[in-house]
This record gives sequence, structure tokens and C-alpha cells, in this order.
Amino acid sequence: MKNKIYNNLIELMMLPGLSGYENRVCNHISNKLKELGLFPKKDVMGNLWVSFPGEGPNIMLFTHMDQIGFVVRKIEKNGFIRIERLGGVPEKALASQAVIFPLENGSEIFGIIANKSHHATQQDEKYNVVPYKDLYIDVGVDTFEEVIKLGINIGSPVVYKPTVEELSNERIAGTSIDDRAGCAIAIEIAEKLSLRKKGPPINLVFSVQEEFNLRGVIPLAQQLLPDIAIQLDLILATDTPDMRDRGNISLGKGPAISLFSFHGRGTLNGVIPHPALVKLFEKTALQNKIPLQKSAHNGALTDLSYVQLVGKGVACIDVGFPLRYSHSSLEICDLNDLIQLTKLLGEVLDNIDGKIDLNR
Ligand SMILES: [Zn+2]
Repeated sequence: MKNKIYNNLIELMMLPGLSGYENRVCNHISNKLKELGLFPKKDVMGNLWVSFPGEGPNIMLFTHMDQIGFVVRKIEKNGFIRIERLGGVPEKALASQAVIFPLENGSEIFGIIANKSHHATQQDEKYNVVPYKDLYIDVGVDTFEEVIKLGINIGSPVVYKPTVEELSNERIAGTSIDDRAGCAIAIEIAEKLSLRKKGPPINLVFSVQEEFNLRGVIPLAQQLLPDIAIQLDLILATDTPDMRDRGNISLGKGPAISLFSFHGRGTLNGVIPHPALVKLFEKTALQNKIPLQKSAHNGALTDLSYVQLVGKGVACIDVGFPLRYSHSSLEICDLNDLIQLTKLLGEVLDNIDGKIDLNR
């Protein structure tokens, strides 16, 4: 299982999949599912899913395929390219980043987000964050026309140059571990479910546009009308010097559930998980000797916030793997956390039956 998850993860990390442009990631996952003898379906939004029929409450397990990035806002006469942010891109970590423009024909144009020559940087500029509006991308050409000729135009997607680096202790650094790690785990779960004899009905969903507006999966949730929704994504690791007072989540100490998430800026949403699902995860982790960490904090949320409000309401929980440096070009996860999370999810899905009481 470890090798499969590792290989799936790094293959997925190397594919560009900006929100709204998830095609390459989606096709890759779709092929993996077909190799397992499954029949994935796709809706008009681009959400991909497979259904496993069964008896009991209707379950939706979902994870997002998309990633943060940019779109081209303006092409200057001299060939420099201005960008608009798509998703929660950290402006303080953008200058000097390598990026790619994934083209429709499957090829890519390489570029760099420019950083003003250090020798010309004034004292008062040294500790300033340059707003993204003032940044520009250099693709090595000198005119507007040359940019167009490369296949880049207004609205073209841009993402961090896909990267995978292996660190010590089976830790992986690279681009869009959020949430290709979730996708790699879900593919493993699909394999397990494809072999099962009985169990509850499960829809395994690979969703779109989570990083854009958190609602890409909603039309599919409205179609599937789950009783239970389990959302699979990162949980912020808080074991680095800059995060210590924010929680107790450590990289490499196992999967986690979220007991509280909230985002007050703009979205005003969050998830307080269903107590029956919290109990189910706690009990299952204990029975299977899988460590389970707990998170509760402001500032992050997932598309589950909107899924919980679908139909007559959905019993919900966010589960995830610890992640450091979220939304940076180099995030870090621990392979063993992914393995433990896969085991935990597999056991939880085996343990849900008609007896689960979703009254609150
Ligand atoms: Zn995510």
C-alpha cells in the first residue's frame, strides 16, 4: 500500500490542475479507477465519482482535485505577464517562484515570477511584501505578440512549477500536496471498495473548484443527497516554530479529525462535525490502534461547509493528514500519516451500518 500511495501521490503532484482546469488530474484519476474495473462518471462541473452500491446510510467521501494558482490578467507590450490570484495564494512567497502555463494541447510554457534585482533594492523595500498586482512573469520573450504566439492569452491558467522532493523520514515536499494526497488516498480506498462483498452505499468523489469558491462539489452533492459526508483534505500541522500556539497537530503523528473550523472573512462558514461521526472515528482509531489527532481552529475551511447544508442536512466530518506550509509552492506531508489515514478511513467505512444514529 505504501508504494502505491507514494507513486500515486507523486504522479498527481506533477500534474497541473488549477481550479476550473482540473482536466489532466481528472483524466489521470479516471484512468486509475478504470484500471480497477470501475466506471467513473463526470458531471457538468467536472466532478468525478464512482458509486459502490450497498445497504445502510448513503455516504459521500470526497476530496478535491484542484489547486491554487493564477490566471493571466494582462500582457504588457514588452512581453511581461501580469496575473490575478486564484485561491488563497500567499503573496509574501511569490517573487522568484518558478511557474508553468499549462496549455490546452498538453504542453507547458515555463516562466518565473520576477524578483527585483537585489543590488538595486532600496533599504525601505527589503522587508516589504510586493503585492501580486505589481508582480510580473517573465517567459523569456520581449513582445506582446510573442506571448500570444506561445499560446498564452488573457485568462490562461498559471500554477507553481510542479515539484516533488523526498526528505528524510519518508516525508515529501512539493507542490499541491493539498490535495493530491487526498486523491492518492481516495484511489487506494477505491481499490479496497472494489473488492468488498458488503457494506453501506458509498459515492467516492473527486471534486473541483474547492480552492476557488468552495462550492464546485455542491451540484453533485445535491444529486447524490448523502446522509453522511466525509471530507478528506489537509489538517494544518502546528508543530513548527511559527504555528506552536495554534494547536496540537504534529507531522508524522497520524491522521486527524477537525472538531471545529471557521472562516469569518468573506465566507462566514465552517463545520462543527456530527457527534456520531466524531465517536465513530475515535472508536475505530482506538480499536485499530491508529493514532488520531484533533484540530480546532479559525482561518481555514473546506467545501464540506456547504455540503452540510444540502437537502435535509448532512452529517459531516472533516478528516485529514497533517500538512506544513499550506498553499506554499513547497508543502510537506509525511507518507506514514497518509498510510494511517487510509487504514482509518477503510475501517470506518466498514463499520458504518444501518445502526448508526444520526439524531442530534
Ligand atoms: Zn485542500
